[in-house]
Amino acid sequence: MSSSFDSARVAVIGGGPAGLMAAEALASQGVQVDVYDAMPSVGRKFLMAGKGGMNITHSESLEPFLGRYGARRAQLAPLVKAFDPEALRAWLHGLGVETFVGSSGRVFPTDMKAAPMLRAWLHRLREAGVRFHMRHKWVGWDAAAGGDAATHTLRFATPGGEQALSFDAVVFALGGASWPRLGSDAAWVPLMASREVPVTPLLPANCGFDADWSPYLRERFAGQPVKPVAIALTGVDNKVHNRQGEILLTETGLEGSLIYALSAVIRDRIVADGAATIALDLVPGLPLERVVAEVTRPRGSRSMSTHLHGRIGIGGVKLALLHEILSKEAFADADRLAHAIKALPVRLTRARPVAEAISTAGGIPFEALDGHLMIERLPGAFCAGEMLDWEAPTGGYLLTACFASGLAAGRGAAAYLATLARLKARDASA
Ligand SMILES: Cc1cc2nc3c(=O)[nH]c(=O)nc-3n(C[C@H](O)[C@H](O)[C@H](O)COP(=O)(O)OP(=O)(O)OC[C@H]3O[C@@H](n4cnc5c(N)ncnc54)[C@H](O)[C@@H]3O)c2cc1C
Repeated sequence: MSSSFDSARVAVIGGGPAGLMAAEALASQGVQVDVYDAMPSVGRKFLMAGKGGMNITHSESLEPFLGRYGARRAQLAPLVKAFDPEALRAWLHGLGVETFVGSSGRVFPTDMKAAPMLRAWLHRLREAGVRFHMRHKWVGWDAAAGGDAATHTLRFATPGGEQALSFDAVVFALGGASWPRLGSDAAWVPLMASREVPVTPLLPANCGFDADWSPYLRERFAGQPVKPVAIALTGVDNKVHNRQGEILLTETGLEGSLIYALSAVIRDRIVADGAATIALDLVPGLPLERVVAEVTRPRGSRSMSTHLHGRIGIGGVKLALLHEILSKEAFADADRLAHAIKALPVRLTRARPVAEAISTAGGIPFEALDGHLMIERLPGAFCAGEMLDWEAPTGGYLLTACFASGLAAGRGAAAYLATLARLKARDASA
């Protein structure tokens, strides 16, 4: 069957969830799509995200869901509304993947795995005619190629040497800068900059932070979870954040789900002030008055540590943190100690490098794009996924926005090609 796209040459560069969704959107409209990826196989970060449970989206209602995109809520709302968590789950079911809602409201495939889902998806994409070109790293535009402004002649580094290929439309879905060994190494940043496409600096998101631990704490307690615990801190916008959860003491500082959830606030505080001091509540289930009452009770000949363990169950890594941060005098002063147990100041000095982070903040700002995610400076070039300037906590919000923006960019590219085809037909008949 012939279509108005018969002669269109379309590339999707980057085979993560955003790129694959863009390819599916294009193929579903009859466009012949070629997917290029630098790695030997697609979806490597997606598979990594599936380790320990593939959390694909979240079941909370749309309003709080959209709120997770913070400052970029307005830009992501139309994209996510067009492919919301319900639609995403229905799409998964169409791939033969059943889902369930976990106790936290997070949505997972029933088998918790990413690999079967990716296999089924790639099979469906190949059936739809999508062609895959692995070990093709996009390394820039071909300056020597002339052509009209709407043609993108792109250079790829391949095992057989460099190739220049021309396309009518391109969807870039190159990911952020985290876990570069999985393919998203952010080498696209200077390439976009060379075309005067603005790029907000890439920063770690959902990341751990450094603290200046003593060798004793590091050697004895690194790798231990601290739970339950609550963190309070004030953001640069003076908003007070207070959340309960679980953290992990690491060799260099702190990480874990609660730290990730607050990582944007902590990171921005460090950027503004050089450090961020969080207040750890080591017994979030007990009110301050009760802690003061318990800790200041006469303890006879018992040591303070034994007393704390007996009265409020503090021991192990929590006790070690108190010793680490409080002076001997403060630890021996029951009233000061009780207050510190409810608000232990921990100074975080630096975000861990973006390469270690779960995701990336920064990227191509929406202000540089039109409503279809086309780069205004580069007609016919669209972008999607984590390379766009937004961030979100873990909980399925990252993948949801990658899928939704991939779909929008793919649909945008198809609409752009349809317009090109109409213009060509009009010129031919003129
Ligand atoms: C450990 C870990 C756990 C995670 N867990 C979750 C989770 O539970 N839930 C959730 O929602 N999200 C999770 N994420 C985040 C999620 O995996 C990412 O947000 C998502 O994969 C980003 O999709 P993307 O398509 O934008 O980019 P990517 O998945 O990074 O894909 C980009 C693709 O582009 C290719 N590429 C890059 N540069 C070039 C180039 N120059 N030429 C050709 N190809 C190139 C790469 O090889 C890669 O295949 C997790 C991430 C990590 C690291």
